[in-house]
Amino acid sequence: MDRQKYQEVVETFFEWRQGDITQIFSELLAAVAAEKSLTPAQIMSQNYETARANPEIHVLPGNLKDARDAIFPYFWGTDSWNNPLHLENVRGPANQASLIGAIACLLKNPNLCTDRYSQRSNELEVKAITTLANLIFYHTQDPWGVFTIGGTISNLYGGKIGLERVLPGAMQAGLGGHRIVGICSEAGHYSNMTVAGWLGIGTNNLISIPTDDKLSMRIDLLEQKVDELLREKAKIAYVCATFGTTDGFGIDDIRAIRECIERKCGEYSVPMPQIHVDAAVGWAMCMLTDYNLNTNPLKLEPRLQELVLHAQRKNVGLQFADSVTIDFHKMGRGHYPSSAFIVNRRDDLKYLVRSVHDTPYFSDADARRDPALFTLECSRPAIGPYVAIASLNGIGLTGWQLLIARSLELAQRLKDRLAHLEYCKVLNAATHGPSVNWWVLPKGRNAEEIYQRMVRNELSPDQRQRYAREIRHLFDKRLKTMDPAIDARLGFTTNFGYCPHGIEIPAWKAVLFNPKTTDEIVDRIAQSIEEL
Ligand SMILES: *Cc1c(COP(=O)(O)O)cnc(C)c1O
Repeated sequence: MDRQKYQEVVETFFEWRQGDITQIFSELLAAVAAEKSLTPAQIMSQNYETARANPEIHVLPGNLKDARDAIFPYFWGTDSWNNPLHLENVRGPANQASLIGAIACLLKNPNLCTDRYSQRSNELEVKAITTLANLIFYHTQDPWGVFTIGGTISNLYGGKIGLERVLPGAMQAGLGGHRIVGICSEAGHYSNMTVAGWLGIGTNNLISIPTDDKLSMRIDLLEQKVDELLREKAKIAYVCATFGTTDGFGIDDIRAIRECIERKCGEYSVPMPQIHVDAAVGWAMCMLTDYNLNTNPLKLEPRLQELVLHAQRKNVGLQFADSVTIDFHKMGRGHYPSSAFIVNRRDDLKYLVRSVHDTPYFSDADARRDPALFTLECSRPAIGPYVAIASLNGIGLTGWQLLIARSLELAQRLKDRLAHLEYCKVLNAATHGPSVNWWVLPKGRNAEEIYQRMVRNELSPDQRQRYAREIRHLFDKRLKTMDPAIDARLGFTTNFGYCPHGIEIPAWKAVLFNPKTTDEIVDRIAQSIEEL
């Protein structure tokens, strides 16, 4: 072997050459800063045409700048969503405290599988989970949990605990021909389908319960369905309630769901399913739980105080959950991936536990400290704990209250503006979150009246299709005619979650996650609609 060449490779790629590294960091930071002068539309166009034809690997060893050059066009061609005009979906710009946390994590690259591979980073995970659990459950004795790579996986943990609750030993014996079902609402996230499919119960056994116009699961229909399922001897493994639906921010009544399920399981003498709550989007409302509305230290305006009070009332419901999913990478404005799965009572993790015998190379693992004994993942990144703790403590509870309250204020402002236009209809007026779903119909139409007729099922399929086409057409028209320097980028959903008589309702959508979005940007949305 050419020892000198070998030594060069080791020195270039395995030593900490601080000067070289910080220089490239500064260059990347400068490139990010340059994004500020661009509009979201000006990102470099993609080149899928030859991405497969031209795979790349250099032949000779290079240096860190070669590494930089190899990724730079793709880095430059990716939008960080820092621009305040981005309102398409539940993705905000990541905050800089999170950046510090994430970089620190990358520098040490811990693996959270066992504490031997991660030392104090594992301790940080315990701290981060406990902090979040206290915010969410409010009064909780013995919470525990782990960070996962996404809300889908966190929901999968909830479903899996439920499966083991109602079919003990399924981990070893499989489903054994039993009919196992999971329940969510019609406005629930599509990850519920993923979970049912991957758990092996099958997507056909995911039962979705219709919602009311507040996008909350209808408890009367839940009760009917549960009764029917238990009569048919199906085993209900879990109910996945939603706290903040992705489009319209519907919140399920978790207390009522629990009471309903407890009553029915008592009647049929069957074990309780897991009451899991998908709070991937909505969890951040918990930052408002402790806000003192009497002294109002942040001088919130009366309208905003009402919105905070509303959030505080909803937050109480989370205490009735067995487990929750939270995505710090959504309203926590943290870096991906930082989702957490949290149980209210640590004892429930027993449903997931493997023995040391099943994890040969973690033979000295200790269930008190080593998550690998119950996690789906084996190698597990620590980005989540670093991002969460850095963000929670950098920004502070008061800082978070300002950020969340501002999102609510901006969403309300948009709803108010749109309510003045008779050819527009705000669809989620009854939910109080950071997102707005609405219709834009051609001028001259009375959107409210058309909506009411649709809800009463008085429109023919032809009429419904025509209105849906108009709504989509106007959305596309705005896309073509908008000025990318001043007009916000909006989202579109083909079904915002409320389906009266099974009718799926399309909607324009805006999510007010970006702290730099201004009143003027919001007002301009209404104006751009008037100009269509
Ligand atoms: C985004 C989302 C998910 C999925 O989370 P990922 O982190 O994207 O995997 C699940 N549920 C809800 C309500 C969501 O908004």
